[in-house]
Amino acid sequence: MIAGAGLAGLRTLEELRARGYGGAVTLIGAETRPPYDRPPLSKGVLSGAVDDTTLRHDLSALGADVRLGEPATGLGDGVLRTGRGEYPFDRLVLATGAVPVPLPGPGPQRMLRTLDDALSLRALLRPGLRLAVVGAGWIGAELATAAAARGCQVTVVEAGPAPLAAAIGAEAGAKTAPWYAAAGVELRVGAGVSSVQPGGLALAGGQWLPADEIVTAIGIRPQVSWLAGSGVAVDDGVKTDEQLRASAPGIFAAGDCAAFWSLRYRRLLRFEHWDVALRAPAVVAANLLGGSESYDPVPYFWSEQFGRMVQYAGYHGGADQLIWRGDPAGERFAACWLAGGKLAAVLTVGLPRDLQQGRRVIASGQPVDTAGLADPAVPVRDAVLR
Ligand code: FAD
Repeated sequence: MIAGAGLAGLRTLEELRARGYGGAVTLIGAETRPPYDRPPLSKGVLSGAVDDTTLRHDLSALGADVRLGEPATGLGDGVLRTGRGEYPFDRLVLATGAVPVPLPGPGPQRMLRTLDDALSLRALLRPGLRLAVVGAGWIGAELATAAAARGCQVTVVEAGPAPLAAAIGAEAGAKTAPWYAAAGVELRVGAGVSSVQPGGLALAGGQWLPADEIVTAIGIRPQVSWLAGSGVAVDDGVKTDEQLRASAPGIFAAGDCAAFWSLRYRRLLRFEHWDVALRAPAVVAANLLGGSESYDPVPYFWSEQFGRMVQYAGYHGGADQLIWRGDPAGERFAACWLAGGKLAAVLTVGLPRDLQQGRRVIASGQPVDTAGLADPAVPVRDAVLR
């Protein structure tokens, strides 16, 4: 039984079949659409280049009992409950993803999580539309990019000191601020929103920002409220060990809803990364079938904003040094976080090779030469001290 028919749920099913498991699998999904990809929603779908991001059109070939439009509502005693019935299971995979966090207030606010969200938002984007985007995180930046390209008058309101501050820190995030102005997007940092009102945003400090449409992109929370009372331990997501096993026997979790014990970082971590939803299910499937594999990635994320490919690998929590590689005011540069002389994380703008090499250097855990790392002429892999 798999709860959640997004990328992680589908990938679990695929991995089970790829490993030769021919038994019964039920895939339960809250949405009526078959599994689809989310990264294009804020990119190609909003820009109009893509309409359909369905992950596979031959879902029936996987031989599962697929039940869409049927959210799981509860769990207990080896039974999963939905509004339509009860499903006894031997093993269960929790892959229910996450939902956007709304702002308080009576005014209408849009979110961007589902394909339908993206299609209805796209239909609104027109020249001159006053669009307020709350949150200059990854999604807010991508949304602002698409809306500005469609001629909207975009204002991005961010409570933190810089775009992406929550994700990559204020110092690195600040390097992306000029991208907004260059795209004709007004960016207001340090501007908290008190409430969403009809016709605009009430800002902390009493200011008023008029807007025709408001999109809230202040973050997501794991979709685990339906597990209340189930006995499955939750701590900002379903708590799992390094083998992605939840606290209750026979139950696993993967993707945006799972906070897994990271052997590499010695802490519980929950990532909202496509790459995690893609790869963690292979470990879940192996362990469902009797294995004891660990999931221990160097995390990876990408974003496409304001004409730039931004990529991030690693985890900079605990880093003690930030080194710039190339000119952060330019079109291509990287930020390298070090912890104890080792590369902990790398953020690249327009430098996919640096990203790839950096990811391997992070995985190797070898100490690096900071001067080499700071010199764009030295390949990242050659900055390793041997
Ligand atoms: P989801 O994709 O959320 O799937 C979970 C599914 O479970 C959903 O269909 C949900 O409806 C369903 N569900 C929820 N509750 C229940 C229930 N009770 N019962 C049954 N089903 C339920 N990541 C990147 O690395 N790079 C990017 O550029 C990027 N861009 C993104 C852009 C957007 C607009 C969004 C929304 C996400 C983006 N991501 C990106 C993140 C990435 O898409 C997610 O990390 C990934 O989709 C997580 O997959 P998942 O299967 O864990 O969760």
